[in-house]
Amino acid sequence: MEGSSPSIMPIVEIPATLASFGSPPTAARATVVIQTPGQRFARTAAGLGVCWGLALAGLFIPVAHFILVPTFVSAGIVVAILRAREDRRLLKVVGVCPRCGVSQEFSAGGRFQSEKSLDCPKCHTRLTLSDASTAATESTPS
Ligand SMILES: [Zn+2]
Repeated sequence: MEGSSPSIMPIVEIPATLASFGSPPTAARATVVIQTPGQRFARTAAGLGVCWGLALAGLFIPVAHFILVPTFVSAGIVVAILRAREDRRLLKVVGVCPRCGVSQEFSAGGRFQSEKSLDCPKCHTRLTLSDASTAATESTPS
């Protein structure tokens, strides 16, 4: 039996800015999970395993397997690529919308490298979340 408790992932708050067209950007705080290569690999393998398991199950369904198998095989590859790249996973953003001025918590997900699009739930303005901590340092090409 495997240990079911998830390994502790470092959760950090990083300074960020929220910007929208025509309004000055406001300060925000983004909560991200820093995933180690091992944790990324585990999530990658799990996603691949689920999709390829479904593909394998689809093999035994007559006719439908022509569609199911290639669909789940390619879905597994897509999921694996997305998860393997999730070195910093965004959990939530707390800040003030630059358009309507409402302080709120934005629910978010997926990879967060330096910029991400968000929608304000109050005024439905498309906002751009920028990582304020790396914006200054990432300008130099590596
Ligand atoms: Zn708003």
